[in-house]
Amino acid sequence: MQFKDIIGQHESKMRLLHSFKEGRLAHAIMLLGPEGSGNLPLALAFAQYIHCAQRNEEDSCGVCPSCKRHASLQHPDIHFSFPFFNKPKAEGGDKTNSGNYASEWRAALLETPYMGIEHWRTSITKENKVLQLSVAEADFIVKRLSLKSHDGGYKFLILWLPEYLSVPTANKLLKTLEEPPENTIFIFVSSNSERILSTILSRVQTLVIPKLSDDTVREGLLQQGVAAQVAEGITHYVDGNWWRAQLLAHSEDPNMFFSTQFIDWMRMCYTKDVAKIVSWSDEMHKLSREDQKEFLMYALDQVRQNLILNYAGKSLARMNAQEQQFSEKFSAFINDRNAESLMELISDAFYDINGNAYSKMVLSDLSFKVHYQLRS
Ligand SMILES: [Zn+2]
Repeated sequence: MQFKDIIGQHESKMRLLHSFKEGRLAHAIMLLGPEGSGNLPLALAFAQYIHCAQRNEEDSCGVCPSCKRHASLQHPDIHFSFPFFNKPKAEGGDKTNSGNYASEWRAALLETPYMGIEHWRTSITKENKVLQLSVAEADFIVKRLSLKSHDGGYKFLILWLPEYLSVPTANKLLKTLEEPPENTIFIFVSSNSERILSTILSRVQTLVIPKLSDDTVREGLLQQGVAAQVAEGITHYVDGNWWRAQLLAHSEDPNMFFSTQFIDWMRMCYTKDVAKIVSWSDEMHKLSREDQKEFLMYALDQVRQNLILNYAGKSLARMNAQEQQFSEKFSAFINDRNAESLMELISDAFYDINGNAYSKMVLSDLSFKVHYQLRS
């Protein structure tokens, strides 16, 4: 990955480049930014830049042997660590480390380094497993970093989402963080510093990566040839998350946009996540009234399809793959007692919005009512 492949984040790129050129590079840095901001792509581009044999002032060359190995994620001096779940006992159980997922990791990263944790989870398991960096990972990291660097230059350990480090793993890593092997640079890539142990935080130099602005996301989508109106809708919805923007922009399924929103919405209704409901209603409010109504029609249909799924089975329910996967669990919350009320509530909201009611209020109000129906 080169810096030029990263959307926006000009200032973050410059700060990284300066720290390196001025010899102020700490041996442990943390790129702290929200999901989809490009913090992992920045880590990749930075490591590639430092390894590049023909780098210029602003970017790696992209063509030297080192850059080519980076592009295929095969550079011997770049090591990755990331959350995973322990394999069953028969397959090594608690000795599981990220090496057991190396090929899945490479495939997911080659697809897009903008991915979020949920995408990573679904690429290694279809179940709702708890991901973490469990204790065997610490030994695995220390062992890999003890190897001599291949080209005599820097070795990198890019640790994605240190907020998933278990306490024993974090404690085991402290010594290595404090006294790293020669020419070793740790790059932590985090989206939530509040969940990281203070002992780790105090040992890294943090660079805050801001959320992408709407202008940057819109511009990026337009440059990819996405139609202006579609780009506008996606930009409003994704709130600076470039990964989600890509998902929606390049989906071949026209329902994908709605189905992603519906899934998120049902989750926040179920948990009654007030903050999320408010910001979701705000975002929906920015869409045109026609789009809001279309979404509600879609939601109505999803409730119906889940009821069908429950009473008549998979073959009769009309769902795409994403909807099916979500409904495997979600359909348990739709039954003949609440389905009718849910459909009524959604229809009422539809007619309110059709009649020019203030949609922000209608949608947040609807969300709380849906919550009680799902929990009934
Ligand atoms: Zn190069």
